[in-house]
Amino acid sequence: MIETGTRTATPGPIERKFLDETTKPGDDFFQYANGAWLAATTIPDDEPGWGGFFEVRDRNFAVLHDVLEDAAKGGKSASEKLVGNLYASGLDEAAIEKAGIAGVREILRRAESVSKREDLPALLGWLQRRGVRAGLALRVMPDAFQSTKNLIHLMQGGLGLPDRDYYLKDDPKSTELQEKYRAHLAAMFRLLGDDETASVASAKSVYDFEHALAEASMPRVEQRDPYKVNNPTTREQLDTLAPGFDWTAFLGEIGAPDAKDFNVRQPKYLGALADAVRDRSLDEWRAYLRARVINAYAQYLPKRFEDERFAFYGRALVGQATQKPRWKRVLETVDNELGEPLGQLYVARAFPPEAKKRILDLVADLRAVLRDRIDKLEWMGEETKKAARTKLDAFAVKMGYPDTWRDFSGLSLDRGAYVDNVIKATIFNFDYDIGKLAKPVDRGEWLMSPPTVNAYYYPPRNEIVFPAGILQPPFFFADADAAVNYGAIGMVIGHEMTHGFDDQGSQFDEIGNLRNWWQESDRIAYTSRTDLVVQQFDGYEPLPGMHINGKLCLGENIADLGGLKIAYSAFERYLAREGEPPKIDGFTARQRFFLGFAQSWRSKFREEAQRMRLTIDPHSPGMYRVLGPLANLPEFFAAFGAGTMERPKEQRPAIW
Ligand SMILES: [Zn+2]
Repeated sequence: MIETGTRTATPGPIERKFLDETTKPGDDFFQYANGAWLAATTIPDDEPGWGGFFEVRDRNFAVLHDVLEDAAKGGKSASEKLVGNLYASGLDEAAIEKAGIAGVREILRRAESVSKREDLPALLGWLQRRGVRAGLALRVMPDAFQSTKNLIHLMQGGLGLPDRDYYLKDDPKSTELQEKYRAHLAAMFRLLGDDETASVASAKSVYDFEHALAEASMPRVEQRDPYKVNNPTTREQLDTLAPGFDWTAFLGEIGAPDAKDFNVRQPKYLGALADAVRDRSLDEWRAYLRARVINAYAQYLPKRFEDERFAFYGRALVGQATQKPRWKRVLETVDNELGEPLGQLYVARAFPPEAKKRILDLVADLRAVLRDRIDKLEWMGEETKKAARTKLDAFAVKMGYPDTWRDFSGLSLDRGAYVDNVIKATIFNFDYDIGKLAKPVDRGEWLMSPPTVNAYYYPPRNEIVFPAGILQPPFFFADADAAVNYGAIGMVIGHEMTHGFDDQGSQFDEIGNLRNWWQESDRIAYTSRTDLVVQQFDGYEPLPGMHINGKLCLGENIADLGGLKIAYSAFERYLAREGEPPKIDGFTARQRFFLGFAQSWRSKFREEAQRMRLTIDPHSPGMYRVLGPLANLPEFFAAFGAGTMERPKEQRPAIW
């Protein structure tokens, strides 16, 4: 039997007990590699899904739990004090109950008492600084056309549901969820003291308000086009885009009164926001702003607020039966607010230097293979190849954790009210972000905390980044045979490298500027290949009636295809260099490569969570991340024998 009860058990490199040997590998390799695991695994009540990623996160949480418990007992270093105080205040449920909503009363009061529409822009800015995304969202990031320069990026935001589609679709599942969302808004208003009639009326008003913002929002697929979401805009042009909106007041409140240049990700949306400021009644605004404030802070308030938040965002939206234990919820907050101080303590316990070296070797290995493959591409001309190699050679690699830790010395937290600490940390982080405007882009900065189970490619810095959190089984095994590590973490590394050349990444150059370095004919040849990827994934139907959105997931699917190929080629080279190892457990090294890959992606999701992922997540579900790339790879069928999975040659996208 599989021990799903022991949530922190570390799997072996390849688990025979996960296999379904009644399925022919070439017919359905995901089922073959994981069938017994799928049959025996029950998703824990407090999770939206389960699988390799969740297991690593769970084990990381166990390490972080020890870190935080020790820090809360009275840590000595500044990092320990900071995370220890936030954690301890979050666990002190008695104090949280006693404080009630005192911590957010001033924020609510401001939202509730706005009495002139001319005051709205200043209020929106004031709320942004306190973590309340109302009306729009903003971040300081590099200028896409000049990657050394930081800019304020203004973007659509301020919806309570995960995407515009949730408001605009009218199938039965969507309308049911819309109904539940309105009920949730009403419940929150009741908790704030409104009577039944007023709560229901306010909920309807907020929903209609958000519905209008959703209609004005740019769809996700459109946002994949970097030229559509990078619109350099001057301070004067903001006035034209959003007539009547008092940008001077807004920018003053966010601490950037002198900002001159902006990127407006969705220009049309800003116009709609200005319309709302001009046309919506103040009653509608007050209801909307209260809803946004309570949405931002419910999880740090007394149980009744947190429970109501969970009832919608946990139970209704992703199907969780129960909330995670308190310590995990607080841990997630510590990671969000204090990612680097926490990460510093995490890597000291969980990330040995040997692991870093082995993975850096793998990266070098894969980079050499990709370079070679670019040289040999039939569809790409010499000039584009030269530019592609320049870009690949310029890739920066970040492994494990930052070289320089971010300075948190300006932030002090205490054992007082949890929500007070969260507000202080939020303002500190917001001001830090705005502070970047005065400086050139810091190429050493990390966008994920070290314990995060994920990795990324970031086009403006042309870098691939692997937090320590993912460098663990089933992605990386310190003691496994090379086959398994090439198939699991090797594929992840190849995936991130390929992002530099996916439909988005390929539009940025070697220093991270959005600039075309392609010859026209090569771009056409490339797109005709990526169109095949769109077609392939559009054909998959993970839930009845719900297909993968091939255009939304194109970048990730290109990266999966390329990542697996590059990792496999690198492994072939390894075999040529080191010789063919004996079979292990009855499997050849090549078979173990593919098993390591497929088992690292084992996963299953609740129907609600799957529905949400298919709407907003640019990644295909785990099963298709395995089947999709393999179906195009003759080397896989050579290793495991032919089967029905294999796609006809003319339908296979051959890109990298
Ligand atoms: Zn990716």
